[in-house]
Amino acid sequence: MKKGILFVLLTVLAIYVIIICVDARSGDLFISDNNPANSGENINKGEVFDSSGDGEIASRELISSGEEESQENDNREKNEDILYNESGRIIIAMYHKFSETEGNDEWGRSFDNFYEDLKYLYEHHYRTVSLNDYLNHTMKVPVGCTPIILTFDDGYSGQFNLILNEEGELVANPKSAVGVMEKFYAEYPEFGLNGTFYINSTGFFGNVGTNSQKLNYLIEKGFEIGNHTSTHVNFSKASLDTVQKEVGTVANLVREAANGYEITSLALPYGISSKEYKSYIAEGEYEGQKYKNNIILLVGAEPAYPSQSEKCNLLSLPRVRARGGNKAVDYDLYYWLDKMEKNPNMKYERIS
Ligand SMILES: [Zn+2]
Repeated sequence: MKKGILFVLLTVLAIYVIIICVDARSGDLFISDNNPANSGENINKGEVFDSSGDGEIASRELISSGEEESQENDNREKNEDILYNESGRIIIAMYHKFSETEGNDEWGRSFDNFYEDLKYLYEHHYRTVSLNDYLNHTMKVPVGCTPIILTFDDGYSGQFNLILNEEGELVANPKSAVGVMEKFYAEYPEFGLNGTFYINSTGFFGNVGTNSQKLNYLIEKGFEIGNHTSTHVNFSKASLDTVQKEVGTVANLVREAANGYEITSLALPYGISSKEYKSYIAEGEYEGQKYKNNIILLVGAEPAYPSQSEKCNLLSLPRVRARGGNKAVDYDLYYWLDKMEKNPNMKYERIS
């Protein structure tokens, strides 16, 4: 009788170990040779595109964020924990260029189609949150909604540039991604106005206004600034001094131009890290000033796990490419959005 029980226990344990192993393997990133997105390398600053096609869906479990509601006016929610389904994942969307027309540029998005992206997300119950809210697990979206993070690389003027309005004030050009987001936010305030802009140390966001005016405009609106290195460096070929100079230059520039603003995340140029000096991308010092990136973003190519998940590596966090053409290309934004619609458990959704 006892041997029988022991046998059953060992069998259950063996199955459990097998499940854990399979699960862990499926989280690995790899570069897919047949991924059409790889052809992006020949375009402009084109990033290297990792992709993972596991589409893994874990069982639905409930967890508490440990966060307490602070809305004083809403007693119903007071002292109640916000609950998300633990198995769900979060899309960190990655945009590059914006213009009137997309043409064939797979790294580009037209203003009209960007608006349609936002509308699709809104109608499918996505709500924007900041990357720092993701990091600190302070994402507040309504029940039944899923957080999404928007990121923008390279500081293109199509993402944001200032113009003088009729009152002589500097405002975001309506023909820019920020202009589109502001318009959408005015129509659908519950969508949120969030996004992180990864800049190099020169040539960002057009020619109107000073660096200080451009950065402060974004920060005052609630956007975040991120580090994309001073010269869009390829870290795999960089010395230790170069790594710290590349990261520290942007950190110091933003700190000085934007009232001490501290950058907390970095998007790897080309999606490439450094073998020897990886830790210095996250943390280091340049010209007597320290910098610290709590999040390092990759270029591809799957939704991220929530920051408190043990499957989440904040220093190697995947993103999903948003690009031209509303059809689903493998591992791009609509590919994952479609997958999430078909597999609702995959969505990191607020459930109470
Ligand atoms: Zn870049």
